[in-house]
Amino acid sequence: MDLLFLGTSSGTPTRTRNVSGLALIDEIGSAWYLVDCGEGTQHQLLHAPLSLHDLHAVFITHVHGDHCYGLPGLLASAGMHGRNKPLRIIGPDGIEEWIRSTLRLTQLLLPYDLEFLAAESLAQWEINHWLVDAYPLSHRVPSFAYRFTEASTEARLDIGKLEVQGIPRGPVWGQLRNGMDVAYEGRTLESSDYIYFPNTPRRIVIGGDNDRPELLGEACRQAQLLVHEATYTKAMADKAGSVVRHSAAAAVASFARSAGLPNLVLTHFSPRYQSDASRSPSIEDIRAEAAANYPGQLFLAEDFARYRLHKTGQLDRIA
Ligand SMILES: [Zn+2]
Repeated sequence: MDLLFLGTSSGTPTRTRNVSGLALIDEIGSAWYLVDCGEGTQHQLLHAPLSLHDLHAVFITHVHGDHCYGLPGLLASAGMHGRNKPLRIIGPDGIEEWIRSTLRLTQLLLPYDLEFLAAESLAQWEINHWLVDAYPLSHRVPSFAYRFTEASTEARLDIGKLEVQGIPRGPVWGQLRNGMDVAYEGRTLESSDYIYFPNTPRRIVIGGDNDRPELLGEACRQAQLLVHEATYTKAMADKAGSVVRHSAAAAVASFARSAGLPNLVLTHFSPRYQSDASRSPSIEDIRAEAAANYPGQLFLAEDFARYRLHKTGQLDRIA
């Protein structure tokens, strides 16, 4: 699974960061999923190797505009490009009513169906080979994290065992590998005796806006990767006060350390943080604060940064 960031700014876009949008790109086929769709997300997609025909689902974390105002335009463009496959939209209460009202009031007739699912009741929803769960967070409006867990991993044949037992290479091996029990020379070979799973299922947690990272404790169990907002440093968060209900880098990093997460990607940075490290405040302030509290592999997302979570659970930045 690849993660391609389409927007990494909080609240308003900057010249280098659009507002929230994250594409999850499946390695099977051309399917991809979109988590949040801030205004301008479809413009960002023009610079990404992704087609709206292959978009299998949209997940909205919460109703704030920097996370969903791009949705009507993206849906309209998908229609103009001839999409006819239904599209699933998963989001909190309000998203369906808003989108259906917008379609009606702007007389937009889509040539495909929208199927809405409520984040409030989403549990173990399966799309392709991923199980998706939603976890409530703490923000000014209902906000959710989405957790993607690989439904199954690839089985490998225990070739050594097959050879020791003199079971010849051929169709029998293929059937065992595919989970079938096989009658062989008067006995039954049980598939489960001859296959093993070298990799644990991948698990990715993508948070919406949230001022209490510790709410993700259960979601992050056995996860390899957390993507979470770090809107400010702690000093700036203290100045902004509790009303904004965002997380400081230190709080997210400390949570990730206590949860034993091997990989943390921070995003949703306040536009005040400049990319030039010699200016103040700079994005490097957020990096330094997070790194001081987290010993794992840490990334600060940028627009169009692409990360790959390999089947082994290893995360690499690939673009
Ligand atoms: Zn936001």
